[in-house]
Amino acid sequence: MITAERYHDISCGHRVVGHESKCRHLHGHNYRVHFAVVADRLDEVGRVVDFSVIKKTLCRYLEEQWDHKMLIWEKDPLLPALREIDLEGICVVPFNPTAENMAEYLLHTIAPPLLEPHHCTLHSCRIEETRKCSATVTL
Ligand SMILES: [Zn+2]
Repeated sequence: MITAERYHDISCGHRVVGHESKCRHLHGHNYRVHFAVVADRLDEVGRVVDFSVIKKTLCRYLEEQWDHKMLIWEKDPLLPALREIDLEGICVVPFNPTAENMAEYLLHTIAPPLLEPHHCTLHSCRIEETRKCSATVTL
């Protein structure tokens, strides 16, 4: 299998509802999000897809939707209070914002419609929450 890969760095706040330890508090990370894209065949130039396609689709999504926002689960009991403090700074997500759930959402929900016009598929997404800890979701 041949993959074309690109990563993008964003800074996000979050809190993990139900976490047993300090991740239940509001805090943030400098996330590194790795995308690995596949296609049925290489194009006539010899590419899975031009790297700029990953930048202008998936990286742009991160930049516009998640970067410098507080990712808060739609079922988080703190959501109403946080919205009152900083409505624009909150990004409501349909999942508890662990690295695993973030990668799963990007792979299965966000990437397919963005990449479909470019005849390629996001094969895996790896999210580094720190340099030591990451989660990977693969098709
Ligand atoms: Zn965290």
